[in-house]
Amino acid sequence: MSESMLSYVLLIAVTLILGFGTQAYIKHTYKKWSKVPISSGLTGAQAARKMLDENGLAHVVIEPIAGELTDHYNPKTNVVSLSEGVYDNKSVAATAIACHECGHAVQHARGFVPARLRGALVPAVNFAGTAWLFVFIGGLFLQMIGLIYAAIALYAATIIFQIVTLPVEFDASGRALAYVRNYGFLPAAETGGARSVLTSAALTYVAAALISIIQLVYLLARARR
Ligand SMILES: [Zn+2]
Repeated sequence: MSESMLSYVLLIAVTLILGFGTQAYIKHTYKKWSKVPISSGLTGAQAARKMLDENGLAHVVIEPIAGELTDHYNPKTNVVSLSEGVYDNKSVAATAIACHECGHAVQHARGFVPARLRGALVPAVNFAGTAWLFVFIGGLFLQMIGLIYAAIALYAATIIFQIVTLPVEFDASGRALAYVRNYGFLPAAETGGARSVLTSAALTYVAAALISIIQLVYLLARARR
């Protein structure tokens, strides 16, 4: 096997291990804490309603959404969407995830700077995320190193977005955990479980950013040859 072939195989291996490893970890943690009942007796949707109302966000709507771990907050419509396993479930995992999504709604209402920055980057990242590959293939086809570097610069722009996402996600989890602790609606063991669920979810974002950085380093190293 040639050296370039070997480095390519290594790149794919690291990407797969990091990507699938963190996915498997969050699924495992989610399943585990989905089976542990919550002592508050609240469903995910009820816990979310409570957190939103106590933060003065009675106008934010909570809706069920199909799928597993599809939970998200949409700042444009001000809707918190909770997945099937979270909306009606009275588990530690359901409360953790529901309150995390409410954490995003609180960020939006309070003008949390990294969240605003992330929102502002979305159109540019959508463009760069699609354009970089076309520019890259164009550069390879036309044998133009300038185009290759332009493609790498576009790719690097998408990584900035992934990095800005990290403080937004950590902060939403921090708000969720502070809420369940401060309002005393979870005992310590359940707060610990909620923390495990949210930490494993955050790891998937860290792994995604790490994979992109490794790919960037790889592309730069190849371009320089
Ligand atoms: Zn989030």
